[in-house]
Amino acid sequence: MMQWSVRRQSSWVQLAGHQGNFQLSEGGEVLKRFSEVEAVCLQALMADPLRPFVPQYHGSVNRGGNSYIRLEDLLSGLKNPVIMDCKMGVRTYQEEELTKSHTKPTLRTDMYQKMVKVDPTAPTVEEHEQRGMTKWRYLQWRDNTSSTSTLGFRIEGIMVRDTDREKDEPRKAYHSRLQALDEALKESPFFKAHEVIGSSLLFVHDWTSKASIWMIDFGKTTPSPSTVQLRHDVPWAEGNREDGYLIGLAALTSLVGQAISQ
Ligand code: ATP
Ligand code: MG
Ligand code: MG
Repeated sequence: MMQWSVRRQSSWVQLAGHQGNFQLSEGGEVLKRFSEVEAVCLQALMADPLRPFVPQYHGSVNRGGNSYIRLEDLLSGLKNPVIMDCKMGVRTYQEEELTKSHTKPTLRTDMYQKMVKVDPTAPTVEEHEQRGMTKWRYLQWRDNTSSTSTLGFRIEGIMVRDTDREKDEPRKAYHSRLQALDEALKESPFFKAHEVIGSSLLFVHDWTSKASIWMIDFGKTTPSPSTVQLRHDVPWAEGNREDGYLIGLAALTSLVGQAISQ
């Protein structure tokens, strides 16, 4: 890995997700553990107005018995990049999780432990007794205790460097990129027809002030039922399948805009 990062002049950084899900690859690509849902989305996105905002998708490959999705490495060519992963939308779980928690509740000890680690007072008396909770309960708690449910996005991970001075250029570039993304989303047949859950915007810039924003992580992005026309800019209520993606985008655009010096 070291040799690889020297050759490429920057070490690859993973801000979120399971460590085992990614592999470095040569030729400006990263490999992500294969998911049919994500592969189908990426394939469709390569022929959509959103294509310029998505890492290039090069199909799948087998490595050591596992399948991977081949993606453009968005950090390639950047030197000591500053990176931020913003998970978009007003909820990060699929409605199916909620349905499952009603019909076939499975108690998860791992999620109970994760919750206790963050806030020992968060579980209910019953959850403490059972030492478990449904996945939905845990994910909803995370959404409600972060900015997800109020602002429509949350910062999943951030990698800052010791920079001499904060520059305005990356902020301006980020701001116009967010505005361009908003335009592309309005034109996108993909966006119209999909419920975008748990997807992130990856912000990257380096000392040269080259800055960009990319849509990543389509593992929970699924076609919306043909009977539902999603708006993406209204709150979620059980059954309406809204993701609130545009609520988060508007909040982010406004925050980045305010950070630009007048
Ligand atoms: P989770 O579902 O838990 O959010 P995941 O396993 O689906 O995670 P991603 O969210 O797709 O994984 O990616 C995790 C991290 O890996 C990102 O936050 C980012 O730092 C890095 N990453 C992902 N895709 C790329 C890419 N194409 N180029 C560079 N970095 C990437
Ligand atoms: Mg992710
Ligand atoms: Mg994911």
